[in-house]
Amino acid sequence: MAETKPIKDVNLVCVGSELFYHVSNTNVHIATRILEMHDFSLNYNILVPDEPGAIIKSVEFCLSNGDAVIISGGLGPTFDDITREAISELTGKTLFFSENLWAEIKERFRARGIEHIPEKNKKQAMMLEGAIKLTNTTGTAPGMMVEYKNKVLFLLPGVPKEFEEMLQFQVVPELLKRRKQENSKSFVRMCFGIAGEPEAVVEEKTEKLRKEIELKGGFWTILALPYLIELWLKLPLPEQDLFCDVKRKLNEIFGNSFLGTGGISIPESLFRVLREKNLTCCFAESCTGGLAGHLLTEIPGSSMIFNGSIVAYSNKLKKKLLKVPKTILRKYGAVSEQTAIAMAKGARKYGKSDVSLAITGIAGPQGGSIEKPVGLVYMAVALSNTRVVSKKLQLSGQRSIIKMRAALAGMDLLRRTVLEGKT
Ligand code: ATP
Ligand code: MG
Repeated sequence: MAETKPIKDVNLVCVGSELFYHVSNTNVHIATRILEMHDFSLNYNILVPDEPGAIIKSVEFCLSNGDAVIISGGLGPTFDDITREAISELTGKTLFFSENLWAEIKERFRARGIEHIPEKNKKQAMMLEGAIKLTNTTGTAPGMMVEYKNKVLFLLPGVPKEFEEMLQFQVVPELLKRRKQENSKSFVRMCFGIAGEPEAVVEEKTEKLRKEIELKGGFWTILALPYLIELWLKLPLPEQDLFCDVKRKLNEIFGNSFLGTGGISIPESLFRVLREKNLTCCFAESCTGGLAGHLLTEIPGSSMIFNGSIVAYSNKLKKKLLKVPKTILRKYGAVSEQTAIAMAKGARKYGKSDVSLAITGIAGPQGGSIEKPVGLVYMAVALSNTRVVSKKLQLSGQRSIIKMRAALAGMDLLRRTVLEGKT
């Protein structure tokens, strides 16, 4: 066997006509995360429909612009799963039926209690000449590793969970084996989170720090997420002590807006603050329709700090459940500071919680006016019946983005208020 080139640049081809219509290509995110963790760069990701010509052309491109190519999808049993055939055509390696593989596939079906195994699944026992099988511990489609023109191709199933597992436990070890040590420069990474600050403000306030990092051979990337900015830093291994300096400086610059390291989210940060202070909370949600409650309950253990969310969309429920006085609703309207404050007080009481958050606003696209445009959101936090903080925000974007930003901004207000409120 000819020796393959040492590996640095890896490219990805995602096969599947559905990826052009209704399925999001999440495998590229999985691949970037896993490959970068091991210091491989993912340079190109091509999306192709289930067409042999398109698969062949894209794999050829990826091979000539990288050291290894990963192909996701098209290993299933149906007529449109044609990755094996396309790679056979490209490489000139014939496909043969593997009795061993077929026995393994049948065993897998039997273990799931399926006795009648469709003949169509025989397709998944077809191997490329000279290929090495990659075991799929979750699904039926095995993967393959193929040497071609001194480079290496990995054929993996498209199902994200299977793709991730096989990439991590079978492809990465193989790539690492093939990487010559002297060719690899070791880096360490860390991610820092800043809540509620605009991207440009973060950029401006961290410019000096960024230049210091770059002078030391590091990389600095800024990622804008809803109501959250993430700074991704990559430092050469010998410089890793600098991360402590960066953390300290970001804390000085951003104070309570600084969430810390490790890709921490706003809900997670709120969870930690409430846990630390041994407090329970309750939400009253109007325009976010329960989204804040959903996001907080994504955190394991949230029941220790979260009593619940009252979704009071109509004025009737705001009055009935949250005891918002009808005079306030009549005089100021449902989207107002006064209503938000009354909702927060009502939620705290009804939810028997130490602290509460209320969100009311106009998510759009209809329902706005000159005085109260789409994206206008009022939030209030009650620490007690008398200690109440409110905030007005003018958000932009589509309905779902406004809802997401409002939910995150609300949880961030609660987090900051609790931190500052000496409860
Ligand atoms: P099998 O058919 O045995 O499940 P396969 O290798 O043929 O495996 P596909 O049929 O291409 O995989 O995809 C299976 C499912 O995985 C698809 O229905 C699709 O929803 C999902 N999927 C495929 N590719 C991707 C991708 N790049 N990102 C996210 N999901 C994907
Ligand atoms: Mg497919």
